[in-house]
Amino acid sequence: MTIVETIADRHDITPQELAQILTANDDTLLKELFATARRVCDEVYGKRVFMRGLVEMTSYCRNDCLYCGLRRSNEQAVRYRLTPDEIEQCCDKGYRLGFRTFVLQGGEDGWFTDDRLVPLIARLRQRFADCAITLSLGERTEESYRKLFQAGANRYLLRHETANAAHYSRLHPPEMSFDNRMQCLRQLREIGYQVGCGFMVGSPWQTVETLYEDLQFIRSFRPHMVGIGPFIPASGTPLADHKAGSVDTTLRLLSLIRLIHPQVLLPATTALGTLHPQGRELGIMAGANVVMPNLSPTEHRKDYSIYDNKLCTGHEAAECRGCLDQRIRSTGNELTTDRGDSLIPTSQGN
Ligand code: SAH
Repeated sequence: MTIVETIADRHDITPQELAQILTANDDTLLKELFATARRVCDEVYGKRVFMRGLVEMTSYCRNDCLYCGLRRSNEQAVRYRLTPDEIEQCCDKGYRLGFRTFVLQGGEDGWFTDDRLVPLIARLRQRFADCAITLSLGERTEESYRKLFQAGANRYLLRHETANAAHYSRLHPPEMSFDNRMQCLRQLREIGYQVGCGFMVGSPWQTVETLYEDLQFIRSFRPHMVGIGPFIPASGTPLADHKAGSVDTTLRLLSLIRLIHPQVLLPATTALGTLHPQGRELGIMAGANVVMPNLSPTEHRKDYSIYDNKLCTGHEAAECRGCLDQRIRSTGNELTTDRGDSLIPTSQGN
């Protein structure tokens, strides 16, 4: 058996195999890796790529993550906050374009208390009964996660960022804790959300060993979704002068995640598309099956600047939809309006 067949067969990888895959300079091996991951994805989900409409609802953040352009101490960051009505209008526009999943993402903005979010989510749940509502609002209390779930949210994205506690503490300020991040993920799953974790590829101080821990964490946690994309330096942050992560390494890791956790929903991220003109297409061909175009109002897009030179900041939602249609078709797959729920059961059994 080849190394790729071994990994696909075991749904597991050893540290040695990971090092071998990440350093391989062998076109035949890489072709086999990407093609096998794509085939596994086809077997599980078919040649369909799910789309999620991203609404970047606030650029205010109380946190100070060293890598993120929205960190509170970045004085260059322009802050904006959409009103609940504006958020609803973004979803409206998205619905007309065929989106059946809305991802409400933002910095950890104290304005969005449960008392403001619950009515917003309840309203979206009522208006868009056939849609999934995904939240990506960072760390909140268990009680808050529960209220938002009861109001009608179905999914939650919270990247673990790194599964190595020492690495985590180098990327975050002292008041943030690895244990709390992990506890949030467990709580979200327990409440019944479809949960997404994930990490940046090529974040400063990442090593093959920390990546191995990320893959082992994914194997044991078995999340419904995993978001990975290259680290891209953000100006005005302490990591602004670090080098960006690599597209090529990201593609290899996308394939490996597909092989060790075949049922996962795996986006070809905007960060991947930012570093390479065909980054998202390459991601799909390496085993990804989700894209997350932007539904945020054009006038605010450039201000949701988690990293520099982000893709599509000057475009309209409809343009992004049309452009992605073409791009996905070029990979031999089809963009679908299906809600695209995970095949992995939630802890509520639905
Ligand atoms: N506040 C929310 C959303 C954060 S932005 C939360 O805490 O979950 C979503 C993701 O963007 C982050 O989890 C992080 O992995 C990624 N990100 C942040 N800064 C980045 C950078 N400079 N390059 C690439 N990805 C970055």
